[in-house]
Amino acid sequence: MNPSALIEIAKTHGSPVYVYNTDKISEQYNRLTSAFAQVPQLRINYAVKALSNVSILKYMHSLGAGLDTVSIQEVQLGLQAGVPADKIIFTPNGVSLQEIEEVAALGAQINIDNLSVLEQFGSKHPNVPVCIRINPHVMAGGNANISVGHIDSKFGISIHQLPHILRIVDNTGMRINGIHMHTGSDILDIDVFLHAAEILFDTARAFNDLEFLDFGSGFKVPYHPNDIETNIEELGEKLGERFQAFCNEYGKPLTLAFEPGKFLVSQAGYFLTQVNVVKQTTSTVFAQVNSGFNHLIRPMLYGSQHHIENISNPQGRERFYSVVGYICETDTFANNRRIAEISEGDVLCFHNAGAYCFTMASNYNARYRPAEVLWHQGEAKLIRNAETFEDLLRNQVELDFTPAISEAI
Ligand SMILES: *Cc1c(COP(=O)(O)O)cnc(C)c1O
Repeated sequence: MNPSALIEIAKTHGSPVYVYNTDKISEQYNRLTSAFAQVPQLRINYAVKALSNVSILKYMHSLGAGLDTVSIQEVQLGLQAGVPADKIIFTPNGVSLQEIEEVAALGAQINIDNLSVLEQFGSKHPNVPVCIRINPHVMAGGNANISVGHIDSKFGISIHQLPHILRIVDNTGMRINGIHMHTGSDILDIDVFLHAAEILFDTARAFNDLEFLDFGSGFKVPYHPNDIETNIEELGEKLGERFQAFCNEYGKPLTLAFEPGKFLVSQAGYFLTQVNVVKQTTSTVFAQVNSGFNHLIRPMLYGSQHHIENISNPQGRERFYSVVGYICETDTFANNRRIAEISEGDVLCFHNAGAYCFTMASNYNARYRPAEVLWHQGEAKLIRNAETFEDLLRNQVELDFTPAISEAI
């Protein structure tokens, strides 16, 4: 997005503020569908947890996307956005049987990831078609926190337990209409992903009533200049071809589903903050912004490197800064980063602020969660107000205590 438009938004709506550009979302959506153009039945279910503002969900729906959800509340947000229940898949982990039953009653596609719930749900609701989330035990990417296919992961049913799955399906008479996997957050090696896909195909052969195969997500997007990314075009070509061959063998056209979060919204988002203080210590120049990990936790939680630009002085001479927040705790956004010369009052723009930024924000230090703005067709539209003091008090129950009478003379 053009820096002057962002500066204008920071002036109009204040800062900190999140801004999302619909052009980038549709560009990514089209890039993914084009990559898989050879697959006649493709479903893109946007992972709501990345960015769950209802206006974003409506925009996804307008592009033709369905939704991938992990809680009943995300399902309800999708319904609120006008997404029909049959375009919503529910892929929770460790939630109660009751929550799964409530979502099934809303009409969303259920995806079950453990044998206990599979058996209970199948016994009670043999007529509700269910998808099964498998764990193919393929390690994608290097970070154990975001790789969810490895052997000790809490996600999915191990492929080694396929005999047990089949026994439950047989005993309950339930119908399995989809097989799902979601191996982790960073697909960098297409061949590793194709290997996991073969495991999914092998599993699928054991079921004869399937309608779709869901390959989850894990598309890596670049976070800073020169960063690596998943080669979507190569993946589309290779997996698309393999998928078509599998459908021929299976004897029925199936739907190929994906559930990208980051890929669709990460690069569409900008987080604008203002520099309160420039502080020089013996070895470091700190730029302290009016935010902290309460608003954007990814650098502290995952070590993510969000590219930071000084949009108030884009042509300025570059110097080295540590960009930190105003939280009373270490909240480093960037260490020793080259940024165009910063003065107090400048607006710093954090890139890749679309996915897992606002949705992970909190009220820590009793700060308000920021406003969200959608940049659509050249216009800035407010899609969430910044919080106010009332929001901090909402749901609190105030008790009264009489202060002790001071004995001081
Ligand atoms: C989080 C999640 C996704 C989205 O992952 P991204 O890395 O944001 O694309 C997809 N599917 C499931 C089941 C998830 O939990």
